[in-house]
Amino acid sequence: MLNEANNLDNELHAWDRDHFFHPSTHMAQHARGETPNRIITGGEGVYIVDRDGNRSLNAFAGLYCVNVGYGRTKITDAIAAQAAALPYYHAYVGHGSEPSIRLAKMIIDRAPTGMSRVFFGLSGSDANETNIKLVWYMNNVLGRPEKKKIISRWRGYHGSGLMSGSLTGLAAFHNLFDLPRPPILHTEAPYFFRRPDRSMSEEQFSQYCADKLEEMIQAEGPETIAAFIGEPVLGTGGIVPPPKGYWEKIQTVLEKYDILLIADEVITGFGRLGTMFGSDHYGIRPDLITIAKGLTSAYAPLSGVIVSEKVWRVLEQGSDTYGAIGHGWTYSSHPLCAAAGVANLDVVDELDIVNNARQVGAYFNNALQEAVGSNRFVGEVRGEGLMAAVEFVRDRNDRVFFDPSEKVGPRITAALLERGVIGRAMPQGDILGFAPPLCLTREEADIIVAAAKDAVESVTATL
Ligand code: PLP
Repeated sequence: MLNEANNLDNELHAWDRDHFFHPSTHMAQHARGETPNRIITGGEGVYIVDRDGNRSLNAFAGLYCVNVGYGRTKITDAIAAQAAALPYYHAYVGHGSEPSIRLAKMIIDRAPTGMSRVFFGLSGSDANETNIKLVWYMNNVLGRPEKKKIISRWRGYHGSGLMSGSLTGLAAFHNLFDLPRPPILHTEAPYFFRRPDRSMSEEQFSQYCADKLEEMIQAEGPETIAAFIGEPVLGTGGIVPPPKGYWEKIQTVLEKYDILLIADEVITGFGRLGTMFGSDHYGIRPDLITIAKGLTSAYAPLSGVIVSEKVWRVLEQGSDTYGAIGHGWTYSSHPLCAAAGVANLDVVDELDIVNNARQVGAYFNNALQEAVGSNRFVGEVRGEGLMAAVEFVRDRNDRVFFDPSEKVGPRITAALLERGVIGRAMPQGDILGFAPPLCLTREEADIIVAAAKDAVESVTATL
């Protein structure tokens, strides 16, 4: 028996090396077996278990998505029941299934004011592709075909598609892919720690970002700029909450030039910042909202674009003039995923998960600051709700980066994993990121912080 199990293990590892093309992975090293592969087999609460029997606290919730944690049978039962009743029917030409209609209603009930309809996709990337198409369609309907450029931000992350990858403002997702493509532009990231002048206050830096945006709009011609897209808190770009007053100042500029605002809430939607949406948290008044991840807590792949009444009215006008909209996916509002979404939002309510994210998030961020904030290689500890990051620098006074070849961030993340906790080495800079499940308890937060302190001390002692 043991031999059989070993053989199967060896086979799985070999097939993984030989046939599985992993996303965001060093392909050659993986194929040669130079980097560890990890086959995950189970999860319970905030923990995952792998095939080798290791149990790790999942302090990044997968990829900021398993918000309600593992083992929620209400969701898995709902998926199974839907699979038995109706695994699939399409949503084209006015068709639907009960869970997709119910879920659209639940989302609008929870969304910021002024929202009207939900278009469903499967991933955050495809939802942002939909956003771009809707913005272009809208401006064509309104008779302003030149108003098509979209401004994103450096360090933003909006997906890996052709256009959504162009919206993304991180070199690792552009290099060798001939991205970004026009008509996508990138403006200043609201990255207070890396502000150009150390003497700037948060408000002054926010004004600086708004001024940079306005300069770009004027240089390009306001009549050519259709929309601005941003995450309420920069996620994959380093988990960077905006400086004080940022969103208000940005919105003042956008409103002045009649530019739509797309809030990418793929990470922040459904509670991560301690409010249902990040837009509620920062007073953002979006025209379109991207959702995914926390919509189903990743029990099934589902994304969406929440369309405001203002945009919807133009889309309706468009179809009265031009006929049915030629946009959709086979799996738009897939019944299994919609059933997962309905049950997940019920769980979010039943567990009062949004309040938990606010309370445990504040506790976690404070504890992390206390545990590692005074280390001489820690430039900044920052966070909001249940998102947090520790940024490492060679010199904290001059904010000098480490040479990337030293791999300080990845080494600390690996040391954390050795202590049983999964964080994420963010892709640009030496930044250790956390985005745990929103059902995290204070005791679990303590476990993450203790492991982080130990990992940071052990690696920085060697620098
Ligand atoms: N937008 C944001 C803010 C994200 O964080 C992500 C993924 O991390 C995406 C879009 C892309 O989502 P997906 O990976 O589901 O395509």
